[in-house]
Amino acid sequence: MSGSVIYCIDRQDLISEVSDAWPRFAEENGGVPDPAAVLGRSLWDFIVDEGNRSLYRCIIHEVRHKAESITIPFRCDSPTVERHMTMTVAPGSLGEIVFVTALQYAFDRRPLPVGGPAEEARTIVECESCHRLWAGRGWQNCWEVIRQGDIEIDDRPIKVLRTRCSNC
Ligand SMILES: [Zn+2]
Repeated sequence: MSGSVIYCIDRQDLISEVSDAWPRFAEENGGVPDPAAVLGRSLWDFIVDEGNRSLYRCIIHEVRHKAESITIPFRCDSPTVERHMTMTVAPGSLGEIVFVTALQYAFDRRPLPVGGPAEEARTIVECESCHRLWAGRGWQNCWEVIRQGDIEIDDRPIKVLRTRCSNC
């Protein structure tokens, strides 16, 4: 895969547009390489892991709220290739969001055994009251945590532990 893959959601989080590079991207990630399979469907149909949903919800909410874009490093591996990418999440004027993913570098990897270490869930700790996260630098808004790279976004599940922070 080379070049950027771009997709958009509207203000209701429905996928409204995908770029020409999208079918190949979908195919390489085990999806159906047909834009018709995703257009008009909710973004949330495609993010099944609860921890990842929390992070994406936060990113999308903050991008809309701040009207500011964010660029996040993330991993998007296939079974044989380790891909290091960036995802820029940018706001539109009507509540829509544009995702631009770009490959930074990639290399072949040895297939990992199913259920091995790469499949293990990471754990994040979230305050159930103020929704701040604990990620090694004290309690912080998830926007800050993601921007600082304290949580890696990739294809692994994220387990969320809920507690109360020192302020709540
Ligand atoms: Zn709190």
